[in-house]
Amino acid sequence: MKYSQQLVSESDIEAVVGVLKSEMLTQGSAVVDFEEATAAFVGAKFAASFNSGTSALHASCVAIDLAKDDLVWVSAVSFVASANCAKYIGCAVDFVDIDSDNGFNICPNALLSKFSETLKTGRLPKALIVVHMGGAPSDLKPIADICRRYGVKIIEDASHALGAQYHNRRIGCCEYSDITVFSFHPVKMITTGEGGMALTNNPDYSEKLKAVRSHGIQKSEGNLIVTSEGPWYYEQQSLGFNYRMPDILAALGSSQLNSLPQFLETRLQLAERYQQLIDIHQVSTQRLNRGSVSSWHLFILQCEFDDEGIYSRKSLFKFFKDLDIDLNVHYLPIYRHPYYSSNYDRSLFPNAENYYSRAVSIPLHQGLSFKDQDLVIDGLNRFFERGN
Ligand SMILES: *Cc1c(COP(=O)(O)O)cnc(C)c1O
Repeated sequence: MKYSQQLVSESDIEAVVGVLKSEMLTQGSAVVDFEEATAAFVGAKFAASFNSGTSALHASCVAIDLAKDDLVWVSAVSFVASANCAKYIGCAVDFVDIDSDNGFNICPNALLSKFSETLKTGRLPKALIVVHMGGAPSDLKPIADICRRYGVKIIEDASHALGAQYHNRRIGCCEYSDITVFSFHPVKMITTGEGGMALTNNPDYSEKLKAVRSHGIQKSEGNLIVTSEGPWYYEQQSLGFNYRMPDILAALGSSQLNSLPQFLETRLQLAERYQQLIDIHQVSTQRLNRGSVSSWHLFILQCEFDDEGIYSRKSLFKFFKDLDIDLNVHYLPIYRHPYYSSNYDRSLFPNAENYYSRAVSIPLHQGLSFKDQDLVIDGLNRFFERGN
């Protein structure tokens, strides 16, 4: 049993085959269709698809004009791509501690005190990268209020949160941010195999995102710097990349997006079932901020482990491996990875440290049956009851 996996239908397969039989495998209309459908679903004006969530994050950092040596703050607990995207540009990265008992996201109070501290030394960040852990929305409103006060831009890394809601609007509507990014890796809410998308309401950002993903090249008459020399003419105006999503994958994305409401309902039902049926005093589950609806990308437990004995996390993983059930840990705090660790002091992130030492993700995905879910719950009960 996997902790997460894709659910691909016959109509998904037909959509992909349809593109394979058409003229355009890339740079055709399927990409535009997928972008328009996603923008409409989340309530944003513009969407740009990418060949991964990571490339969408990198392009977003370029689009909001981050430059070498700018400072960027990132949620301390996330997948490494949330911070790497700023590193690609040569930015300095620092981390903001999370709220360990409410959503496992950036804590607005920790953010505010970090700004107060930082004002004394004078170096404010240019941007903040906010993560919605496991699909549970960060408390965006107070975070955006603080950032606006200091002129700090916000990118939402919503890789987990397609379909989640914050105060009755979908994550991705960018009410409280400059750009929001989704990932379509197979473990995420919907999949294109690999893929991502950046959403924004700002037309300048939208233009820049589209330039960055295609070599920095412009073709259309209105966007040229030099007068067109003829119908063959295009010009490179900035240094971009080839970060494009092919139409084959965009067709899969549109088809998967049609299934998203069903996926969300299944995940919510499974999450509520876990909440009702896991009744173990050493185990607690993720709580949401008021006004938040999670997409339930992950079901994260916080467990009271001992370091080495029969109640250690290693021994839980072994116990579940013998049951053929995949567990996971989301995530090793980014500042603990060897690439980052020499520059950061763990003791500055007490909540992230506490969270990480207790975190376990149990299986949750749109293809999980109640029967399989019962095996997970039964496994937890048996593990934590031993010795009692
Ligand atoms: C998956 C993920 C990414 C990267 O997305 P890819 O599509 O795999 O490049 C970035 N941030 C977070 C939080 C993720 O979970």
